[in-house]
Amino acid sequence: MASDRPTHLIRPVVHRDVVCPFCGLGCDDLTVEEEPPATLAVRSTDCPVARERFSRTPSAEPPRVAGVAVPLAEAVEAAAAVLAAAQAPLVAGLGTDVDGARAALSLAERLGAVVDHALSDGLYRNLAVLQRTGWIATTLAELRNRCDLLLVAGPDPAALHPRLFERWVAPAPAFQTPPSREVVFLCGEPLDATRTALSGIPVTVLPGDPAKIGDAAAALAAALADPSRALGAAGIAPGDIAALAERLRKARYAVVAWAASAFDEPHADLTVERLVRLVRDANRHTRCAGLPLAGHDNVVGVNQVCTWRFGVPLRTSLAGGMPLHDPHRFAWARYADVADAVVWVSTFRPEVPAFSAGQTVIALAPSGTAMAEEPAVFIPVGTPGIDHPAHVFRSDTVVALRARRLIDRGLPDVATVLKAIAAALPQEAPTC
Ligand code: SF4
Repeated sequence: MASDRPTHLIRPVVHRDVVCPFCGLGCDDLTVEEEPPATLAVRSTDCPVARERFSRTPSAEPPRVAGVAVPLAEAVEAAAAVLAAAQAPLVAGLGTDVDGARAALSLAERLGAVVDHALSDGLYRNLAVLQRTGWIATTLAELRNRCDLLLVAGPDPAALHPRLFERWVAPAPAFQTPPSREVVFLCGEPLDATRTALSGIPVTVLPGDPAKIGDAAAALAAALADPSRALGAAGIAPGDIAALAERLRKARYAVVAWAASAFDEPHADLTVERLVRLVRDANRHTRCAGLPLAGHDNVVGVNQVCTWRFGVPLRTSLAGGMPLHDPHRFAWARYADVADAVVWVSTFRPEVPAFSAGQTVIALAPSGTAMAEEPAVFIPVGTPGIDHPAHVFRSDTVVALRARRLIDRGLPDVATVLKAIAAALPQEAPTC
């Protein structure tokens, strides 16, 4: 209810220790001020992602069917009618919390749909290698508490995960006496904010060709055996490769970090594979682990839900009664060419891609989402961690964080809407 008090007498509500659900880094220390009515502002950090996402809280708008505002129940019925007639449905986007993912996968199972996340390209550059060769990976907590040498491969991951260095690298390791740490950037330059965050830590930059990170990793792996025979690679001199190999051999706990979605080169999974091999080879000399960074829009959490639910990751078809996983064929952007109906879920950002004419789109996205084409059905939904409590997974896959509700704009959560759509589908004929 609107307050009768003059606006200048209404004090902002201060939310402390707020969990940020947006990039997978799991920051749980935000201070967010709420100015009536329902305007949020992050006060405790300059993280551009958090500032932009928390501040984007337009008023709730009504659902639409064919561009006409309708009550939620009518939009749900219209969505169910579209999906009941679909022959090749796609349930994708999947930018949602764990509850939303569970509901989306249940609906997809009922429909026999293909499921994928909007940001699974970066995820699959890593998963492809995990599936092929396995890997030695670590967690953000291990990075903060044990790592004495951090090797950052490729573009600065802080462009995607802005507080990575501030939260997980700048604090001194807890389990080292005396605590020490240094950071090396290989084929990438630290951003200005990263240099600031690392101001008390020795930093070495080897700015080689970012399109040849894999070559640099392979040269470094070869030099580990005998640094005196090191070769140059990716524009980095042999002497620099040799010195880094020597430093890696002497590390007590080295971590090799990368953000695969920032890799530009084609077949970026082969770059990841060479980094994974570097980690494996370094373990012949010292303790070393990889840190694949991902996790925007809870892509890691949604993949976890899919894996525990069906035994296979995303990019899976649920048609035919058995989950069929094919990371090439069932990538959403490829399958969209043959799908006749698309359920697109995007609760963390106001984005819905353009689909080709002839495809019927049901979009569940935040209020105010600008769309290239008006979808058949648009249902505005709340953002996890702003409009409703939510679980999201951290990038390192080992921690599920509980984000709480901050404001009430009267927007439904995705799980509730998807369950209502599933309930409105025609009942399946009983089998004898
Ligand atoms: S770094 Fe990521 S998790 Fe942390 S505040 Fe920024 S967007 Fe949120």
